[in-house]
Amino acid sequence: MMLDLLGGFGEKGRTSLTVNSGNDRILLDVGIKVGASGAEYYPALHGPIGDINALFVSHAHEDHVGALSWLLSRGYVGPIFMTAETRDEASATLAAYAEPEDFRRFPLPDDRIEIFEPGDTLAIGNLSIRTGRSGHVVGGVWFAVDDGESRVVYTADVVPDSNVFVMDTIPHCDLLVFDASYGADPVPGAARAREISQWVARHPQGCLLPTPLSGRSLELMAALPGPFAIHAGMRSSLEAQIGATAALLPGVSDLLRARLASAADWSDANPLPSLPLLADDGMGEAGPSSRLLPRADKAGFPVLLTGHLPAGSPGDVLHKAGRADWVRMPTHPTLSGTVDIWEKAGRPEALGHSCAPDLLEDLKSHIPSLRTQCRTGQRIAVSQGSKE
Ligand SMILES: [Zn+2]
Repeated sequence: MMLDLLGGFGEKGRTSLTVNSGNDRILLDVGIKVGASGAEYYPALHGPIGDINALFVSHAHEDHVGALSWLLSRGYVGPIFMTAETRDEASATLAAYAEPEDFRRFPLPDDRIEIFEPGDTLAIGNLSIRTGRSGHVVGGVWFAVDDGESRVVYTADVVPDSNVFVMDTIPHCDLLVFDASYGADPVPGAARAREISQWVARHPQGCLLPTPLSGRSLELMAALPGPFAIHAGMRSSLEAQIGATAALLPGVSDLLRARLASAADWSDANPLPSLPLLADDGMGEAGPSSRLLPRADKAGFPVLLTGHLPAGSPGDVLHKAGRADWVRMPTHPTLSGTVDIWEKAGRPEALGHSCAPDLLEDLKSHIPSLRTQCRTGQRIAVSQGSKE
C-alpha cells in the first residue's frame, strides 16, 4: 500500500491524499488552502486522474472539500462518497471557496454523490474503507482503509475531548495519518471553554464571535455564560446540527436546543447588539462575518476570534494589529487527545496533517514514531506491522 501526500503535510490547508494498492486508488479529501494562490491553492495532484476510483470526503470544511469543483473541472468522473450532512453543507463551501467559473460549470453533482452513514464500511475494489464519527462536526468522519495486508487510518479533523460531539475510537493500524493542527498544545477543551466564557462575561456591552457555521458554533454555544444572539442566517443550519442527536454527547442536544430557542436573531440591518453575537465564518473571509468584522472594528465593538486564522485573513490582520482577541476553542486534538489516539491505534508509525513543520517537531517527543519530514508531494510506503 502506498500513499501520495497531495496537501496538508507540512502545511495547513488543501488536505488531500490518495491510498494506492494494486489497481485500486482512492482519493481522501480534496481541500483548498486559504491564503495561497495559483497551484498551491489546490492539492498537488498532477498527471492523469482517470485512475482514481473513488473520492471520499470527511466533512465540508474548505480545507477538505473546497477543491471539489476544481477536481471535476479536471475531468474526475468517479463516485463521491460523503455523509448527508456533508453533502448539505458542501455546496455553500464551494460557493465561497471554488473558482467562480469552476463552481458555475461544476457545482456539486448530486447524481454522483454516494451517501453513507458514519460507522459504515464501504468497499472499492480490494479496499475496505471503514468510517467513524469524528467529533469535529455533525456528519464528519475518519477513514480506516484496509487492503487485506495493511491498514492506514486518516483521521481528517477529529476532536477526542469535545464538550459537544462524539468521536468513535480509531482502530489499530499500521500507519496513522492524524490531525496535528494544534501540535503539542497542552490546554484541553474544557479549560479553553472556561476562558472563553470568562472573556465574554467581561464584555457585557456586546461582542462579536466569528465562527464556522458547523462544529465550533455548537462548542461556543455550549460554552457561553448567558444570553446571546446569532446571525439569523445561521439558525436553520444550527437547528439541523443540534437535531443530529447521534453525533452529540448525551444530553447536549436538549441543552443546545434550549439555548438556540432563546438566542436572538440578528441581521445586517440591525445595530450591533448588546449581546455576544455569533456570525459565520470564523476568519472573516466569507459569510456575514466578512461584513461584520470591519463593522465591529470601526465601531470599537469587541471581537473574540477562536480558531485558525490563515495569514492575511481579515481575522488575522485584526488580531495582529491588536484590535481583536484570540482564545482557541479546540476543534482539533490537544496534546492528551493526540497521544490517546496514537496509543489506541497501537502506537503505529504516524504522519501529522494540517500543521507547519515546527508544530510536528513539538509533537515528536510525545509520539516517537512520528515521521516529521513528510511533506506534500511525497509518496509514502505503508509497511505491514510497522511500529515505533
Ligand atoms: Zn474541519
